[in-house]
Amino acid sequence: MFDVVIIGAGISGAATAYELSKAGHKVAVIDRYGPAAMASGWTLAGVRQSGRDPAELPLARAAVDIWGNLHEVLDAPTHYRRGGNLRLGRTEEELASLCAIVDEQSAKGLPIRFLDGLDAVRDVAPAVAPHITGASYCTTDGHADPTATVNAFLAAAERLGATMRFGEAVVAIEVEEGQVTGVRTTRDRIAAGQVVLAGGIFGNDLLNPLGLNVPLKVRLVSVVRTRPVAPILEQVIGVANAECAGRQEVTGRFRFTSGIDDWNGNIEDGDRPRVRPTTRDIAATIQLFGSLIPPAFDAEVEDIWGGLIDQTPDALPVIQRAGSPDGLVIAMGFSGHGFCLGPVTGKICAALVEGRDTGFDLAPFMIERFARRNDKTASLSLHG
Ligand SMILES: Cc1cc2nc3c(=O)[nH]c(=O)nc-3n(C[C@H](O)[C@H](O)[C@H](O)COP(=O)(O)OP(=O)(O)OC[C@H]3O[C@@H](n4cnc5c(N)ncnc54)[C@H](O)[C@@H]3O)c2cc1C
Repeated sequence: MFDVVIIGAGISGAATAYELSKAGHKVAVIDRYGPAAMASGWTLAGVRQSGRDPAELPLARAAVDIWGNLHEVLDAPTHYRRGGNLRLGRTEEELASLCAIVDEQSAKGLPIRFLDGLDAVRDVAPAVAPHITGASYCTTDGHADPTATVNAFLAAAERLGATMRFGEAVVAIEVEEGQVTGVRTTRDRIAAGQVVLAGGIFGNDLLNPLGLNVPLKVRLVSVVRTRPVAPILEQVIGVANAECAGRQEVTGRFRFTSGIDDWNGNIEDGDRPRVRPTTRDIAATIQLFGSLIPPAFDAEVEDIWGGLIDQTPDALPVIQRAGSPDGLVIAMGFSGHGFCLGPVTGKICAALVEGRDTGFDLAPFMIERFARRNDKTASLSLHG
């Protein structure tokens, strides 16, 4: 019998497992594949506050505070670097939209400013291409290694007594008289007083039988990783219209992504799931990132993959304790922003399990908002 079963060993589930284990709960983490097998491994892994929805900004800022010494807290590397985020502009229209973001977010106290002209951008990032005419620059954004971070959370949770069960899928959340009693898996029945569902794009498979649903559209992002080259880029790079993002890892590898595209539904099962982008998408992604950071054209390609995003209609997640059944906490629908938030998602989910105040206004993240919404669909969903 466990106090809490956590479904999903991505960053959301891993951080929650750590927080709950630290608080003395008997925790099991169950993942149909293993650590960081889906979005938390596919991700660009930008740790970004700039460009966030106002509802999400307090969470992102709190997360950035935690990221600073997370490697010490977890006693394992996260490879977090606070090198800043540059959102590049190429046209008058793009510069105007960047200025609007800078005005709005600097008024909220974020250290973000507008860099006017190529020289100003190159003072910060000398490698950018000559057709860049300005950028927003948030100095406290950054990036981290996603797999290392998820493993660091899970290892710390395990040291505190958490049980890991990988290669095992949950097929149902079990409920008796309105109260969660555990989960049924492909191998077993596991009793638990509470369940945290951090299952990413598959979350609704378990919610729907309980009469709950998070409206999700699963979207595809194409990702390219190169072999290591000499360090030339500290910042995470984006563009004003969100059609491309990228960074250089601490290993020297470039990791860069397309914008958000339609997904054809193909996913290969195995030890880890794999999604294959088209040649056209990969060609366009390489062309775009290379046109922003020309030295990237000379790097050798090491790997390509497709990453799937659990996108809600307003591009905000669901993070809440369900009204019914009792004992269920939901954290999903992160819409391409959930890596940065992970450490704070873990703290919020732990507080929800314990019935404590989370310290945040969670009203914008309640599932009930979708019943009220008047088709406000996020027009621009940034990842990175
Ligand atoms: C290409 C790409 C780029 C991105 N860039 C950024 C970025 O720069 N910055 C940022 O903040 N965010 C970014 N994101 C988003 C971010 O990576 C995700 O929001 C975050 O990783 C979600 O973590 P999660 O733990 O909620 O879900 P996931 O990492 O998807 O984990 C869910 C886990 O649940 C498991 N699972 C599901 N159903 C079951 C079941 N029934 N039984 C057992 N296990 C189950 C899965 O196997 C999976 O491991 C990006 C995402 C992608 C794809």
